[in-house]
This record gives sequence, structure tokens and C-alpha cells, in this order.
Amino acid sequence: MAEINEQVSNYLAADVIAQRVAQIGAEITAQVSTTRPLVVVCVLKGSVIFFADLVRHLNVPTNLVFLGVSSYAGATESSGAVRLTHDLTLDIAGRDVLIVEDIVDTGLTMSYLLETLRARGPKSLRVCTLLHKPARKRVDVPLDFVGFTIDDVFVVGYGLDYDERYRNLPFIGTMQFGHGA
Ligand code: 5GP
Repeated sequence: MAEINEQVSNYLAADVIAQRVAQIGAEITAQVSTTRPLVVVCVLKGSVIFFADLVRHLNVPTNLVFLGVSSYAGATESSGAVRLTHDLTLDIAGRDVLIVEDIVDTGLTMSYLLETLRARGPKSLRVCTLLHKPARKRVDVPLDFVGFTIDDVFVVGYGLDYDERYRNLPFIGTMQFGHGA
């Protein structure tokens, strides 16, 4: 009987990602306050690796916080339904906030996050995403910092998963699904 094969091909190499992450860190550093600590929000789990690398390139005072949202459960299509699975442990009212996301695809997740966090009265709210897939946009979301604009492909690695696997790949790859022998 044929079995399902998954293949990952290199899309963005580790050194290419590292170089761009350092650049984004410098861009953010140049644009935010150097006196008020920046609340940097890691959107779990996909952005955890990007977040860990990015914050080490921020040359400003920071508070690091984590926000969990439900994502694709073993599927490659957005359901549009977003659920908060872990809330911030810090009051962001009156604070400068930067959301760090792995990928903006349809924009539904980011739209929900912006609405949720805006309601808490931050002084400023900005968005940084490593990847942007404009081909599948369903809602417009303001993106202040974008690492790479990518084609309409399903990517894994560097924090991004397929069915909770591949997050630990040091590079970003595209997934191909095929039927093997
Ligand atoms: P959106 O709500 O913008 O459609 O999707 C945002 C979320 O969908 C991301 O945080 C990520 O979890 C997931 N996602 C979207 N595109 C991809 C992709 O190409 N690969 C992976 N692994 N996840 C994706």
C-alpha cells in the first residue's frame, strides 16, 4: 500500500534568515523609544525561534512576554477561527507594544491579535512578522516590519510547523506532499 511522504526543500537558508533578522532588529531599534521599555510579544508557538533571535538584536530596554493562540491543527488551511490559549502576564495599558509573529497569511490571526491587544489601551502597537504571504490575504493588517515576502507556498522550519513537527529546523523549507511506494 502507498504511504504518504513529506518532503522539505530549502526555501530560506539559515544564514539568509540570520542576516535579515539582524537587519530587522536594527530597524526596530532605530524606530522605538530608547527610554521606555518596549513590550515585545512572542506569539506562541510559531514565532518562538524568530523571537529569540530577534530580541538579541534589539538595542533598547525590553519586557518579553508570551501570547498563545490556536493555529492550524494538522491542516495547511486557515480555519479563520482564532482562540487565545495563553494570555499575557503583563498589563500593556500605556505601553509601547511590538507583536512578533512568524507569518501573516490570510491576516485573520493578526487582525484578531490587534483587536484584542488594542482593546487594552497600549500607547502604541506595532507588528513585526518574519514572513508575509500576500497572495492569500483576506483582511488588511498594518505590518510595520516584514522579514520576507514569500510566494503562496506552505513553509515549515525556524519555528513553523506541520502537525507540530519541523519547528526545530534551522532553515525555512517548503513542504511537498506526495505518495511514495
Ligand atoms: P493567518 O491567520 O494569517 O491565515 O495565519 C497565521 C497563522 O497560520 C500563522 O501564525 C501560522 O501558524 C499559520 N500559517 C500560515 N501559513 C503558514 C505556512 O505556510 N506554514 C505554516 N507552518 N504555518 C502557516
